[in-house]
Order: sequence, then structure tokens, then C-alpha cells
Amino acid sequence: MEQQTDGRSNLEYRRKRVKRIKRFLIVSLVVLLLVPNILCAVLLVQVHEINQTLGETEEKLWELSVQMEDANAAAVVEQVLSPVQVLDDDIKAVIPDAQMYEGKKMVYLTFDDGPSTYTNEILDILKEYDVKATFFVLAKDGYEAEYQRILDEGHTLALHSYTHQYSQIYESPEAFRQDINLLSDYLYEITGYRCEFYRFPGGSSNGIIQFDKDECFDVLEEEGLVYFDWNVTSKDASSYRLSATAITNNVLSGVGQTNASVVLMHDASDKYTTVQALPGIIETLQADENTIFLPITDGTTPVCHVVRSDENQE
Ligand code: ZN
Repeated sequence: MEQQTDGRSNLEYRRKRVKRIKRFLIVSLVVLLLVPNILCAVLLVQVHEINQTLGETEEKLWELSVQMEDANAAAVVEQVLSPVQVLDDDIKAVIPDAQMYEGKKMVYLTFDDGPSTYTNEILDILKEYDVKATFFVLAKDGYEAEYQRILDEGHTLALHSYTHQYSQIYESPEAFRQDINLLSDYLYEITGYRCEFYRFPGGSSNGIIQFDKDECFDVLEEEGLVYFDWNVTSKDASSYRLSATAITNNVLSGVGQTNASVVLMHDASDKYTTVQALPGIIETLQADENTIFLPITDGTTPVCHVVRSDENQE
């Protein structure tokens, strides 16, 4: 009996052992099969991450190289441009307004005979509406700040007359030249700016000149000056004082007839209605977005009532 019992327990013990070995083998097999797969998966993830980093690095390198190229190009451009910057400015300056503002209605407000007690008020109005204009001035002591303000605020300071005495200015070519030079030097001493534009007292068509008018044009050419008359007038120089409404109507109807208006107005101590009319004129014209106010510059086509006689014949 005891032998039988021993044999059975021995057999059971073996069975259990075989079972354990089988389990061990199965687990080992499963582990052996799984580990490479898990490793593969981990490696794949790592490869993917490395790939991503590489892509980002490549992008950064590309951006850096583009930035370096731009920096190099800018440096080269700067090197090439700096010696000819003056030339470049010249080229810009001669682009005609008509081309620069093609399709726009151009209005050049011009104020003669200032500065006066109203100059600052006119400048305030122009500033308020962001309008640039041109001032054909006289020589008047005590208005140094006004001459400077005209320039500082982006308007054009231009020559009209030192004395505004017709009989004196138009007596001879020498007197004509002297009047211009006295004013030009006077303004240069105050502002350090040499004026480029001129307006004949009485306009170029005036009948007061007592010598061949061509000599005036010679003087202007020799002094490097370009003269401007006007093609729209506010008529504020009439012997009687025009109302602000009349001045406004004159300007608006004149401007309505041309695409480049050089508007004659006056900045004189007896012309208060001009100051009163100015905001309304500007507001009405600015209501049309196509209208642009410009100061007279090298790009402005001169409006001339009279030109040199030989040019007339051409
Ligand atoms: Zn005048």
C-alpha cells in the first residue's frame, strides 16, 4: 500500500514539474517573441522623433541661411547705394507730380505777400487738415519764426519780392535781379534754406516791366529759379474785400475745371476773409478722396502766363 502511495505521489510530483517546465517554456517563448516586437516599436518611435528633430533643424538652418543672404544683400545694396544717394534723390525729385499722382486731382494752394499777422493762423489750419502748400513771401522783419515754421511743417518757401514795389523791381534787369537776390539771401540767413521757386509780383503777364521780358527769364534761369503763375484765382486781391463765400466759390469753381490747380491766394494783413474761407475750401475738396493737396516741388509742372518769346514760337 505504502509503495502504491509513494508511486502516485512521485508521479504527481513529476507531472507538476513537467507542467511547471511547460509553463516556463511557454512564458519564455512568449517573452522571447514579445521583446523584439516591443524593442522594434520603441526604436520606431525613437526614429520618428529623430526624424522630426532633423526636419525642424533643417528648417531652422534654411531660415538662418535666408536671413544671412538677406543681410549680405542689404549690406551690398547699402555699399552700392551710399555713394550715389544724391543721384538717387535727384531722380526722385524729378518724377513729375502728374506721374506720381496719376489719376488724382492735384491742388497747389499758394499764398502770396506774407508773412503777416495771419500766417500762423493759416499754418494752423493747414496743419489741422494735413495740407501742404506754398508760400511766395516778401522780406518782413519780425516774422523769422513764421519763415522757419513754413519750412518745418513741410510747406514750400518760395520767393515773391524783397520790396514788392513794381516800379523799383521792373525798372531794369539789374534791379529785377537785385530784388530776387536780396530776398533769397534774407531768407537763407534766417532759415539756411535756398529758395528754388519764384512768383513775379503781378504775375509774369504784368505790363509793368520796362525792358524786354526775356531778360527776366534769363535772370531767373541764371539764378536757378523756376517761376510759377496760377491757373485758379481766389480773387482775394481785388480792390474791395471779397467775402469768404465769394473766395470759396471762386476757388472751388476754378479747381473744378482742371486736374492740376495752382491756386492764387494771399496771406496779407488785410485778407482775413481768405483765412475764414480756407477751412471750407479744404473740407469741400478733401471730401473727394481723389483730390490731393501738394506743395510746389521740382516735380510740379509750372503754370506760366508768359514764357520766353523764342519758346512761344516753338
Ligand atoms: Zn504780390
